[in-house]
Amino acid sequence: VDGAPMTAASIDHLSQHFPLCMRNLHMTLRKNGHLKHFGRLQYTLFLKGIGLSLDECIVFWRQAFRGFTESEFNSRYRYNIRHAYGDVGGDANRRNRGYPPYSCQKILNDNAPGTGQTHGCPYRHFSVDNLITLLQATGVHDKELLREVREDVEKTRYHIACNRVFEWVHKAEIKKVKEDGTWSQTDLDTIVHPNTYFKRSYLLKH
Ligand code: SF4
Repeated sequence: VDGAPMTAASIDHLSQHFPLCMRNLHMTLRKNGHLKHFGRLQYTLFLKGIGLSLDECIVFWRQAFRGFTESEFNSRYRYNIRHAYGDVGGDANRRNRGYPPYSCQKILNDNAPGTGQTHGCPYRHFSVDNLITLLQATGVHDKELLREVREDVEKTRYHIACNRVFEWVHKAEIKKVKEDGTWSQTDLDTIVHPNTYFKRSYLLKH
């Protein structure tokens, strides 16, 4: 992004473009200086998908984790990050590619988070009240919008809620690209992948 290589130091700033699932992981990581295994995996694969290199990803996690010595970090966490990037482990094919970043479908349906875990999709896995509090903490406060989000979630339309928030956050930019014809309707199709959310948000705001 921006033509310059993405670094560990860019992530705080870029997180304004993250969907709520990844925003929640990022905020929790900054608050606690730690994330549990499935949260790390979900977030690492997302970061890989937005273009963070393996080396920068290791720097990112090393700096974010508080209270670990270099050798503790290396023995507990470094291998898993490299594994997610396909740098170690797996068969020859997997080693080349690593694991793909998770789609919304996977995040919504696989492996629901238990107590103290942060992975998953807040639209699906949070209580409605906690979801609204989280949205407000990220600057989404429009009463009518939040009412619609509540309604979506109650009807288990999690994607719709996420796309509705995206459209609200980017309404000025969406109006502009529609009016000047730089984006077609296909460019604005329903988002079904967190990495699409990021990319579209970033492109609209730059
Ligand atoms: Fe993330 Fe998808 Fe849930 Fe949106 S709908 S918060 S992109 S998992």
